[in-house]
Amino acid sequence: MKPLNHIIRDMPKIELHCHLEGAFTLDFLLSRIHKYEPESEIRDLETLRKQFVFGDFDHFIRSWVWKNRYFRTAEDFRDSTYLVIESLARQNVIALEAFFSPWDFDAWGPGAEAIIEATLEGKEAAEKDFGIPVNLIADLVRNHGHEKAEDKLKQLAPYKGRICGIGLGGDETHFPAFRFEDVFRLARSQGFHTVAHAGETEGPYSIWDAVSRLNVERIGHGITAIQNRELMKILRDRQIPLEICPTSNLKTQVVKSAREHPVKIFYDEGLLITINSDDPTMFNQTLTEEFQFICREYGFQADDLDRLTHYALKASFFTPDIKTKLQKTIENDWDNLT
Ligand SMILES: [Zn+2]
Repeated sequence: MKPLNHIIRDMPKIELHCHLEGAFTLDFLLSRIHKYEPESEIRDLETLRKQFVFGDFDHFIRSWVWKNRYFRTAEDFRDSTYLVIESLARQNVIALEAFFSPWDFDAWGPGAEAIIEATLEGKEAAEKDFGIPVNLIADLVRNHGHEKAEDKLKQLAPYKGRICGIGLGGDETHFPAFRFEDVFRLARSQGFHTVAHAGETEGPYSIWDAVSRLNVERIGHGITAIQNRELMKILRDRQIPLEICPTSNLKTQVVKSAREHPVKIFYDEGLLITINSDDPTMFNQTLTEEFQFICREYGFQADDLDRLTHYALKASFFTPDIKTKLQKTIENDWDNLT
C-alpha cells in the first residue's frame, strides 16, 4: 500500500460544506485587485496570502468583508465559481456541494439575480470541463433576518433543479433557527433540500432546533452535540449527517485545540460525519490538507478515509444515478490506491 499521504493526495474526495465566497483562488483575487485597484500595494500572491493570516475572529470577518469588495461584476462570480471547481478537481474532488450567498453583495455587486445566473454559468461550465457533478445550495444567512428569507426563496424558485437546496449560515446566537421555520417548510414543499449551520458557536439546543423545527437533512458543524449524550444518540440513530470542518473550528477558535475537537469521538460512536474545508482559501487549508490533519491528529487510517468518502456520498443530495456512478468511481479509485 502507498504511504498515507499519497493515498490522501490521490483518493477520491467529496466536499459537502464549502462556501464559494471563502474558496476563491488567490490568483483570481489578485487579478481583480489589479483590475479594480491598480494602485493597491498588493502586487503578488505572497503579500495577498498575508491578508488571510488572522489574529482573531474579528480580523477574520474584516478580511472576509475586504475581499468581497473585489467581487463586482457577473463575470467575477462566474469566473470565480469556475476556478474554485477547477482547484477542487485538481485534488481529485469527484463531487461537490457548495454554498453561495447571492445576497451578500447587494451594496456593490450586480444584484442577486445576476449573481445567481453567473454562478450557475460558472458551475455548469466547470461541470462539463472537469466532469464532476456540482450541487449549489443558496445560503439564506441568518444575519439577513427571517423577514427577508421568503423573498429570497421566491428569487430562487425559477432556478429549482439548477439550485439544489437552501442553507442557513451566519450568526447563530442572535438569529435563532426557529425564526426560519416557515421559510424552511415552504422550501421543502417546493422540493428544495435543506441544511443549516448549527452547533458551531451555540450549544446543543441550536442543533436540536435545526433538526426538530427546520427538519434539515444535514447539519453544518454540529460540534456542540458533544455536550449532550441524548442528542448524540438521536443524531447517530437517525444518521443525520454532520458536516465537520476541523480547521475552520480551530481557526475561528470555537474549539480551543485539536485535542478538544470531537471529530474522532463522533466517528467512533457511529455518527454519520463528513470532512470538509468550509472556507479553504480564507483558512489557508485545502480539503486534502484537512484529511492529512485528521490522520495526523486523531489517527484516522486509510480504511477510515474510505469509509468517510462513502459517508459523504450517502449524505449528499445527488440523484440515485449520479450516486451509482460516483460509487463506481470511488471503488475504482480505491482499488488503484490499495
Ligand atoms: Zn460554513
